[in-house]
Amino acid sequence: MYKILSLSAVALAVLTACGSDSGIPEGTTLNVALLETTDIHQNLLSYDYYGLKADTSLGLERTATLIKAARAENANTVLLDDGDNIQGTLLGDYQAVASPVSCSGTLALHKVMNALKFDGGGLGNHEFNYGLDFLSQVSNTDFGVPGVQKGANCGAPNYPLVLSNVVGVSSQQPIFKPYALIEKQFTATQPDGALISVKLNVGILGFVPPQIMDWDQKNLADKVAVNGVQESAKKYVPELRSKGADLVVALSHGGLDASPYSPKMENGSLHLTTTGIDALMVGHSHLIFPKAKEPGGPALDASLAALPTDQVDAVKGLVNGVPTVMGQSWGRRLGIIKMVLKYQAGKWVVQKDQASVESRGFKYTDGVTNVAADASVAPLIDAEHKATIAYATQPLGTTTDFEMSAYFALVGDVSAIQIVNQAQLDYVKNFIASSTDATLASYKSIPVISCSAPFKAGRNGPTDFTDVAPGATAAAPFGLQVRNPGDLYLYGNNNLQAVKIKGSDLKNWLEAAAKQFATIDPNKGGEQDLVPSYSTIYNYDVFYAENNALQYQIDVTKPVGSRIVNLTYAGKAVAAGDDFIVATNDYRASGGGNFPGIDGSKTIIKSPDANQAVVSNYVRKQGKVTAAKNGTAQSWSFVKVATAGPVILRSAPGKLAIAQTLGLSRVKAEGVLDASGFAKYAIDLNQ
Ligand code: MN
Ligand code: MG
Repeated sequence: MYKILSLSAVALAVLTACGSDSGIPEGTTLNVALLETTDIHQNLLSYDYYGLKADTSLGLERTATLIKAARAENANTVLLDDGDNIQGTLLGDYQAVASPVSCSGTLALHKVMNALKFDGGGLGNHEFNYGLDFLSQVSNTDFGVPGVQKGANCGAPNYPLVLSNVVGVSSQQPIFKPYALIEKQFTATQPDGALISVKLNVGILGFVPPQIMDWDQKNLADKVAVNGVQESAKKYVPELRSKGADLVVALSHGGLDASPYSPKMENGSLHLTTTGIDALMVGHSHLIFPKAKEPGGPALDASLAALPTDQVDAVKGLVNGVPTVMGQSWGRRLGIIKMVLKYQAGKWVVQKDQASVESRGFKYTDGVTNVAADASVAPLIDAEHKATIAYATQPLGTTTDFEMSAYFALVGDVSAIQIVNQAQLDYVKNFIASSTDATLASYKSIPVISCSAPFKAGRNGPTDFTDVAPGATAAAPFGLQVRNPGDLYLYGNNNLQAVKIKGSDLKNWLEAAAKQFATIDPNKGGEQDLVPSYSTIYNYDVFYAENNALQYQIDVTKPVGSRIVNLTYAGKAVAAGDDFIVATNDYRASGGGNFPGIDGSKTIIKSPDANQAVVSNYVRKQGKVTAAKNGTAQSWSFVKVATAGPVILRSAPGKLAIAQTLGLSRVKAEGVLDASGFAKYAIDLNQ
């Protein structure tokens, strides 16, 4: 006993001579770069499966080039993903639903991420879209949830996946590892300038929005439960520290919201900054944070610019002093948090004032040139890419005579929305008509209306618009193909639901949807942006009734909450007490978007069918889709107003002819491009 003690004392004395018991001299400096991808959504190649064309503005094969460049700048990197990666394109649907990947196979996504040597990942809400059996398999994780298949020896990421705030209902244990310690061997610089190899333990935590229980109720109810992000962090950050984490990074699949903390909030990331973490990676809202640094880069999104500056420094990328990054979506940006650590009194100490944060895009070198794709990526997934194209081009309906597009959905065009509404409405009417349920049967005389939103209308950049070509083409000799409903209805995981509401609820619903518009000052001389941010454009619900019987107008000169006028049904003003049944999706019906009174309590139909499948089936049933029947019933317009200065709408460039074909006389001219590549179209609100 004494002998051992004295040996230890000798060893300690020797090591202390070197400055510490680790052999690392006091004052040694370590430069680390934490790299983030987020919301990849199955955009692996720079390719658009809905449009069957290359899109060089997106794709992990190009993010891979950004990753290589960041690693060349500093070899001390930790590459992490913030979730929402397995769902989002037809490749995801193909490998999960149409031709599910086998246990012995590996998702194309994970093949690429393994090849890029990711160090760790969190999850997003969309990871739950294909159900727990599938997620268990492709993550090779036993969730310990009764009735859920165990992923065992299946192809999966070869890096740890962490999720700190989801537990099994029966076990009350986390379904994934709540955190992981990643041991990295890095090169640091001693005070004398010599290099030294050091070990750094990087702790990671992961969080998803509690709303997964609403959005994926069908997959998750009674199986898992979600805890608040802050409570979960407070539990696990000290555990990570006690296990030796030198650096703690939160992978929070949620945006930035400065509202007071609630364990139910969707975008609670900001409230993780007080839990003792060192760095924060965020996502879910598909935005760029901090403000893009490349020459001529896009302006800060309006929703981020509105955050209180005493908490959020959107230029430096600090939230309550914690370095924070969001790498947009679809592989378009790589989040980079550069941190300096110093070895002081036997441990690594983060030098808080020396962090620098960047959300680096494809054009970061000169603001003009996209980085090239990393040529090593495409060959890894060539078979899956080709199989997805074959799946996407299977015939669905016969030829169409009009272009279904969302370029001008925010100024009245319904060409890509009406058919979705018709499909939903048809489904709900038939559901009620054929129901044996006495309550549902008693609703037969209540008008059924429907709403849907322009899901692909600029949220992910100027190429992100629904556009289903008119008529047969060489690429689509039969007209509509399997790929088209995904373009018309992006969220393949949404299920159709219906709610029973009053006329007053309908008015409030429309008011909430109309929040997407800025308040236009008719007397202002300068340019006014009609829709300042596309970050929540999926909340712009457009309503429809058969024979275009529902009509309303939006007065954008009025403040939020008092914009809807002339709301009529079948030619009569809608009264507060009128009954309506609204066909919508499970996201909205269960409270998604916080629409007043639409909180799950008014849901009367929870269909097992996906809205996207409902659209597919409707197109099949119609056989031939035409503009007159399916694309020209405009249910809403603006209250006319003359403005002193120009009002603009950002949309894809080169689309003025489409507005003219649609007869949208309020779209006047195509203007210059903004820094994100959107064209600024002049809108005459007096038309
Ligand atoms: Mn996402
Ligand atoms: Mg998300």
